[in-house]
Amino acid sequence: MKIGFIGLGNMGAHMARNLAAAGHEVTGFDTVAPCPDGVARADTAADAAKGRDVVITMLPNGEILRAVADQVLPAMRPGALLLDCSTVDVASAREVAEQARAADVLAVDAPVSGGTGGADAGTLTFMAGGSDEGFAIARPLFDIMGQKAVHCGPSGAGQAAKICNNMILGITMIGTCEAFALADKLGLDRQKMFDVVSTSSGSSWSMNAYCPAPGVGPTSPADNDYRPGFAAELMLKDLRLSQQAAGMADADTPLGQAATALYERFVEQEDGEGRDFSAMLPRFETRGRG
Ligand code: NAD
Repeated sequence: MKIGFIGLGNMGAHMARNLAAAGHEVTGFDTVAPCPDGVARADTAADAAKGRDVVITMLPNGEILRAVADQVLPAMRPGALLLDCSTVDVASAREVAEQARAADVLAVDAPVSGGTGGADAGTLTFMAGGSDEGFAIARPLFDIMGQKAVHCGPSGAGQAAKICNNMILGITMIGTCEAFALADKLGLDRQKMFDVVSTSSGSSWSMNAYCPAPGVGPTSPADNDYRPGFAAELMLKDLRLSQQAAGMADADTPLGQAATALYERFVEQEDGEGRDFSAMLPRFETRGRG
C-alpha cells in the first residue's frame, strides 16, 4: 500500500519503520522529528497524504489531530482511509470521523497499548472504532505493527476502550501501591504480600505483571529505579481524557476522579514527572494519614 505517516515521534517512528520494512511505500511528515529508515520525507502533511491509500496519524493530542485532519482530508483521495492511532478525546475522534465522511474518506480511530517497546517490536494492541470497511483495510497494517486488534464499535469506540482500560489501570496501580505501603507499616513482608495477593482476589495486572515493589514479582520499572515504562505524565493524560469523557457522558466515576487528582499532584507537585507511574509506591511509603 501507499501510506502517509504523520507524527514520527517515540511511537510513530517505530511504527512507520516497521510498515516500510514489511514492503509498504511509506511517506512521512513530522514538524520536528526526522524520518526513520525506509521512510521518504514529505514537505507538508498534505503532501504526505496526497494519493495515499492510507494516512496514519500518531500525534500528541486531539487539538493537533483536528488541525492535521483539516490539512490532510482535502488532499486525500475518495475511498482512502484516515487511521488515527493517537490517544485523543472521544469527541475529537468522532469529529474527525464526521469530517472524513463529508470528504468521502474512511476513518478509523485505533489507539494502542504496548508503549514504545511494543511499537519497536511490532507487538502493539490496537483498539479500533469505525466501519467494517475501514477496519478491513487497516487489518493487514495492524498485523505488521501489532499482535492484536479489536474492532470495538463505531467511531470513537477505540478511544473509549483505551481510556476505560487505562482508568482501571490507574486505579488498580494506586490501590496496589497503597496496599504495599499499608503492608509495610503492618510489618508484612513484601514478597509474602505478593505471593498471597497475586493468586487471590486482590490480583490485577498492576500486581501480577507490573509489580510496583522492587525485587518482587516479574521484572518491572520498579527494578530499574522507576524509569519508565509508562511515565506518570502519560497516565495523567489518559486519566484526564477519562474524566473529560465521563463529563461528556454524565458518568459517575469517583475513583477515576480521585486517581486523576492523585496523579496530577504526583506529576505537578511531587517530582513524579519522568518517573514510571508505579513510582506511586515510594510516594505512599513516605506518607502518613495527615
Ligand atoms: P511524541 O511526542 O514522541 O510524538 C508525537 C510527534 O508528533 C512528535 O514527533 C511531534 O513533533 C509530532 N507533531 C506534533 N504536531 C505535529 C503536526 N502538526 N504535524 C506533524 N507532526 C506533529 O509522542 P508519542 O510518545 O509518540 O505518542 C504519540 C501518541 O501515542 C500520543 O497520543 C500518546 O498518548 C500515544 N501513546 C503513547 C505511548 C507511549 O508509551 N509513548 C503509549 C500508548 C499511546
